Amino acid sequence: MNTKTNNYKCPCCSKLRYKTELDTVLSMLQDIHKKEYPNTYKEIKKNIVNMFHNADFLWACDDCFLTGKAIKSIPSIIETSDYPPLAYFDTTKECSTCKKEFVFSKGEQKFWYENLKFTIHSKAKNCVSCREIIRNQKHNNQRLAELLEKESSALSLAQIQEMANIYKQLGNEEKMNRYLNLAKKHKAK
Ligand SMILES: [Zn+2]
Ligand SMILES: [Zn+2]
Repeated sequence: MNTKTNNYKCPCCSKLRYKTELDTVLSMLQDIHKKEYPNTYKEIKKNIVNMFHNADFLWACDDCFLTGKAIKSIPSIIETSDYPPLAYFDTTKECSTCKKEFVFSKGEQKFWYENLKFTIHSKAKNCVSCREIIRNQKHNNQRLAELLEKESSALSLAQIQEMANIYKQLGNEEKMNRYLNLAKKHKAK
């Protein structure tokens, strides 16, 4: 193994790095291996740097961690049968709904995979505003289905107003007006 060549391409900054510039991820990787393969660890250690040539493996050079371009992961809490990412860094993607470019940020990634426990195969497909719209629509549909199960005479004023508001957001003026009228009647009672 030649440690003098800088042939490790950092997936974060795309610069070619020497093995000595990968101290952070090397020690993380060694910790994982020590814990998971205590018996074969010494053998693995020899070839450990080969991991950094694997295109699907996410890591970053020391410089990227130092400048904050990349943040460290906590590999032990990531749910995956594959190799956990060792680093998170911002990636630019195209939103599958509005087709605009958006950044899937390093902080978001950490939150998705470590706090929300999403698998590392789930990647953001939509930008933040499209995601919010989609979430909102889902919530509205669910809420509407719940309220529509009730007889309209059993609805409270707040629920009638909520329905009017949902129909407004859905752009259904006819139904919005129907529930606004119902609200008026309800108040008059
Ligand atoms: Zn880098
Ligand atoms: Zn979008």
